[in-house]
Amino acid sequence: MMEFVTNNFAPFVGVVLLITILFEDEQLAKEKKRSFLVTAFLFALELVIRNAEYYAADGDTYTTWRAVWSALLYISRTAVLYVIIGTEMNLNQKKSRTVFAVVAIPLILMVFIAFSVFFTDTVYSFSKDNHFHTGPLGFLRYVPLILYFVFTVFLIIRDTRRLHTKIIVLGYECLFLVVTAMGFEFFGYPAFMCEAAMILGIVFFFMYFQTNELLRENTTLAAAAYMDGLTDVYNRAGYEALVESNRTKWTNVGFLIMDIDHFKDVNDNYGHDAGDRILKRVAEILTSTFRSSDHVIRFGGDEFVVLLPGVTEENGEAIRKKIDSVNILLDNLIDDLPKTSVSAGVAFSREGVTKELYTNADKAMYEIKSTTRRGCRIFAEPQPDK
Ligand code: GH3
Ligand code: MG
Repeated sequence: MMEFVTNNFAPFVGVVLLITILFEDEQLAKEKKRSFLVTAFLFALELVIRNAEYYAADGDTYTTWRAVWSALLYISRTAVLYVIIGTEMNLNQKKSRTVFAVVAIPLILMVFIAFSVFFTDTVYSFSKDNHFHTGPLGFLRYVPLILYFVFTVFLIIRDTRRLHTKIIVLGYECLFLVVTAMGFEFFGYPAFMCEAAMILGIVFFFMYFQTNELLRENTTLAAAAYMDGLTDVYNRAGYEALVESNRTKWTNVGFLIMDIDHFKDVNDNYGHDAGDRILKRVAEILTSTFRSSDHVIRFGGDEFVVLLPGVTEENGEAIRKKIDSVNILLDNLIDDLPKTSVSAGVAFSREGVTKELYTNADKAMYEIKSTTRRGCRIFAEPQPDK
C-alpha cells in the first residue's frame, strides 16, 4: 500500500495541481491552456508508466516489459520538466538557449540510460538470475535529477514572473526529488520519505491558495493604478505596464499621439466641468473608433496616445481617416458642449515601442499643431502643399 502511494504521489499531485490552477487562474487558463493540458497529460502518462513499471512488471524481476517501462519513464521525466519550464517562463532568445542546454544535457543522459537498459551493462545490467543489478555507472541515473533540480530551481527563481507559479513549480520540484530520492538505497525507509512528500505537498497546496488570493488583490489594485479615473482609459502608468508586458510580443506597432486643439479656451470659456466632459467624450470616441486590440491611453492633460499593435506604414491612410472621423464626431458634441478637434501624429516601428517611435510621432503631431491643427500627420511623409 505504502509503495503504491509513494509511486503515485508526485505525478498525481502534478495532475491535480495543474487542473486546479487551470480552474483557478483565468489568465493562465486563457494564455497557456494547451501547455497546461499537455503537462497534465504527461504527468498522467508518468503515473501509468510508474505503475506499469512496478506492478505489471512484477517487482524486482527483470522482464523485457519492465525494461521498456523503465526506459519510457526515464524519457518521460525530461519531457514533464521541459514542459513545466516552457509553460510559465517568460523566455527571450538568450534564456531559451540556457533552457535548451539544461534540457538537452539530462535528455542525452536519460536517453543513454534508457538505451543502456537494453544494450550495455554500464548503468543497469542484468544477471542471469533475472534480477536487476546496477552497473558501474549506475549512479548516473541520479545525475540528471540532481542537475535538473539545481538548474531548474535556478531558472525558476530567475525567470518566472509570478510568485505563486514559483511556489508551485518549486514545490513540485521538491516533491519530485523527495519521491525520487526514495530510490536511493541509503534512505532505506520509504514510509518516512513518503510522509515527508505528503507534508510538502500539503504545504505547497496551502501556499498556492494563499498567494493566489494575494495575487487577486494585487491584480485589482494594479488595475486601478493603471486606469485614468476621469476617462476610464489607461493612464501613463498603464502605458508603461502595457509596453513592458508586450516588449517581446510587439514588433510592428503604430504609435498615435494626439492633443485637443485650443483646449485651454474651452476651459476658460465654458468651465473646467465642460472640459472634463470633453475629455471623457474624446476617450469614448477613440475607444469606439479603434480596434479592440488597440490601446487608448490618456497620456496626461489633453494628450492621448493610441498604441496600434501589428500596424505598419501601409495602414497610415486608414489611421488618418479614423482621426478624420473622430474630428467629425467632435464637431457635433451633444449636451451643449462646444465643438473641438484633435491634432494627431503617427509613426510606425518594426521593433516595438521605442523611444524613437514616441519622438517621431510627437514630431509629426508638432508639425500639424504648428500649421493647420485638426487632422493627422504621418511621420516622415512629404509636407502637403500650403
Ligand atoms: P493646443 O491646440 O496648442 O493644444 O492648445 P491648448 O489650449 O489645448 O494647449 P495645451 O494642450 O497646452 O493645454 C492643455 C490644457 O488642458 C491645459 C489644462 O488647463 C487643460 N487640462 C489638463 N488636464 C485637464 C483636466 O483634467 N480637465 C480639464 N478640464 N482640463 C485639463
Ligand atoms: Mg491641447
